[in-house]
Amino acid sequence: AYDSYALEINALAKTYKGGFQALKGIDLTVKQGDFFALLGPNGAGKSTTIGVITSLVNKTKGQVKVFGYDIDTDLEKAKSFIGLVPQEFNFNQFEPLMNILVNQAGYYGVDKKTAVIRAEKYLKQLSLWDKRHAAARELSGGMKRRLMIARALMHEPQMLILDEPTAGVDIEIRRGMWDFLQTLNAQGITIILTTHYLEEAESLCRNIAIIDGGEIVENTSMKGLLAQLEGETFVLDLAVHQ
Ligand code: ADP
Ligand code: MG
Repeated sequence: AYDSYALEINALAKTYKGGFQALKGIDLTVKQGDFFALLGPNGAGKSTTIGVITSLVNKTKGQVKVFGYDIDTDLEKAKSFIGLVPQEFNFNQFEPLMNILVNQAGYYGVDKKTAVIRAEKYLKQLSLWDKRHAAARELSGGMKRRLMIARALMHEPQMLILDEPTAGVDIEIRRGMWDFLQTLNAQGITIILTTHYLEEAESLCRNIAIIDGGEIVENTSMKGLLAQLEGETFVLDLAVHQ
């Protein structure tokens, strides 16, 4: 089921219980190896889209393929390609970092010895080594976010999806995270992130889509977007948030 897309979304719609239509039939493709940003204001449908891709949210209509595998027919295979960094912290606050990482690898069938080696590698790379025996609740916000990145990498996925990874993280730490993500991308890992910071997408991403009100309103290269902004033909107000 190989093809050159890391992600293919066709006519994806999501109506939440109660009738709110969060996604109104979106089409989106991300090529393997891309560094892609899904931009949009709060409430646009970014997390819903990611939720569907990672099967945390049931879709109403449409099709999603991950590295050629349809999530309706090959969900486990599709999921094996994805590392997810969710918008909200969702680990056990009382567990030591090492355990969180090694347990995560266990869910994917990675043997313990390999898991420990990987955990050590990512704790060092993400500047969490000094905290390896600490419980997660002792970490700062930026450290917790980095812990979630390490956790997402434990099964060595082909694609990393990060939902607003740098929201509320100070600029110094944010830059460190950007460097780390660029290093991963240079190793061939496809990266998709959501953000409402345009400058974040600008410094990192090759291609972008803008989602607003559950619809894709723009899908272009980062260069293309900047050219439009320069020509002032671009009207969406990304400043409508927080
Ligand atoms: P974003 O991540 O872009 O901020 P979301 O995908 O979280 O946006 O939300 C899109 C819209 O769907 C918002 O209006 C939000 O209130 C609504 N929504 C999200 N989750 C639910 C839910 N579980 N039930 C009902 N509405 C929801
Ligand atoms: Mg969100």
